[in-house]
Amino acid sequence: MNTIKSFLVDHTKLKEGIYISRIDGDCVTYDLRFCRPNTGILLDNAALHTTEHMLATFFRNSEISGSVVYFGPMGCQTGFYLIVRDSVSPEKVLEVLKDCLVKVMEYEGEVFGASAEECGNYRNLDLNFAKRTCGAYLSVIEGLENIMEYE
Ligand SMILES: [Zn+2]
Repeated sequence: MNTIKSFLVDHTKLKEGIYISRIDGDCVTYDLRFCRPNTGILLDNAALHTTEHMLATFFRNSEISGSVVYFGPMGCQTGFYLIVRDSVSPEKVLEVLKDCLVKVMEYEGEVFGASAEECGNYRNLDLNFAKRTCGAYLSVIEGLENIMEYE
């Protein structure tokens, strides 16, 4: 078997942050690492799931909405993948990401897509978990001016 590229990154040395992991044609994959790997600190499912609903909706309503290909959680529960067309600069992605995190933190109302028609597990959503998760991640990336690089 060929080892997939993301397994070649040494996860024991990774810190929280935002990294570019792959470029496939015009699609750039950003790894949004909310938690430092293998520390036992994980996003529980409700936090992961609600953050997915909220950030996906805000990304798809942002100024780069037409260039967002995919947003979804990492199976290891330590972050998310965001795939954006290369017509958007990494600096712009970072700026929009910060803006979307603030929008989640300031949001009051129903979680987006919280119904049996719209979601496969709609009872497993809690806005406060998403706010806490996005607030913690914003404090990690708010000082960054550009994307971090994997060593
Ligand atoms: Zn859902």
